[in-house]
Amino acid sequence: MNKELFKHYNEAFESIYIHPESMDSKVAINLRSLFPKKIKDFDSRKKIRAQTLSPEDFDQSKKEILVMPYKGKFFKQCPGGNQNSACCNYFVLNLGSQCHFNCSYCYLQSFLNSPFMVIYSNIDEARFELSKVAKSMKDHRIRVGTGETIDSLGLDPLTNYTSELVKALKDNSNIQLELKTKSNFVDHLLDMNHYNQVTVSWSVNPEEVVESEEHETATLDQRLEAARKVLDKNFSVAFHIDPVIWHPDWEKNYKRLVKRICSSFKPNEVPYVSLGALRFQTEQAQIMKERFSRTSFVNSGEMFVSKDKKLRYDSRLRSKMFKTIIDEFKSYSRSWRVFLCMESPETWLQTYGDSPRRVEGLDELFVPKPLVNTETL
Ligand code: SF4
Repeated sequence: MNKELFKHYNEAFESIYIHPESMDSKVAINLRSLFPKKIKDFDSRKKIRAQTLSPEDFDQSKKEILVMPYKGKFFKQCPGGNQNSACCNYFVLNLGSQCHFNCSYCYLQSFLNSPFMVIYSNIDEARFELSKVAKSMKDHRIRVGTGETIDSLGLDPLTNYTSELVKALKDNSNIQLELKTKSNFVDHLLDMNHYNQVTVSWSVNPEEVVESEEHETATLDQRLEAARKVLDKNFSVAFHIDPVIWHPDWEKNYKRLVKRICSSFKPNEVPYVSLGALRFQTEQAQIMKERFSRTSFVNSGEMFVSKDKKLRYDSRLRSKMFKTIIDEFKSYSRSWRVFLCMESPETWLQTYGDSPRRVEGLDELFVPKPLVNTETL
């Protein structure tokens, strides 16, 4: 690990607790050798059993690492696959929870109730599950993401989990592994054999939104430079403009973001760009107000409760923002493939005038796959 990265982690974390069953795991050994002074007695760890963490406890949980085995099933169907959203057949494999970046809109604020940033130590079991699912769905191409409850690459230079997971790709050509990040931590990936089955995807926003809302993350330029680096090593690259956030200059800023992407990448280098508008659980509104200023962009737009009980912008505003971004991409090239993530069929209709399965270039993503019973893995 280079000095800059070491300094980054050294400043980010205060304490590291290791569960007795995880003592011999590679990740625990690595953390002990890198940060011996931060290792604390496991029994001295804080125990909070509240339903939700206070804003202070949530902030603190980003600074305390807990390494422990995960006792459930790693492999899950993406929660987007419900009756209120058009599902793009995505699966998730969570290798930890919490994130040391600090985005104002992060859904983890209303999702987590652990006072720690957890790293699961039993990566071998995760890889085994991944292989098993791939074999059981061998006639289908499946996309598996590791960035649902943790940034896929935020801790990867410490855990080396991507290099462990790619071992499962060798004999399972139907898996496309997707790493989703707001970091620029890619140098450790560059010499990896990824079997042309790894997509590194960046969640991106205009620089004004990154500065205002995505605290501690890499700048837009750093993310795009990292994307170029992995592309040059034949990884596949995708972008998620998610969440699209309303703010007074949204139109100008999102058009500039599209220009920035289109001037750095060609459509054939980026299999898809997904768009999603700001959304969060109703109970998250208060914690966002307490943790971030009232002038933060996420606290200033008018939101309404939607069918799935989340707060969202009015559907006409969502469609207008999506259409503006899509039209801007298409003005550079008709070949850009842009789709909506976690959006209702109605918004698809308002934006595209059709359902996702009938939009040219996107149809393949939305062909239903058989459901996986994760309990039988
Ligand atoms: S990078 Fe993702 S997981 Fe991390 S704080 Fe931001 S939104 Fe949350």
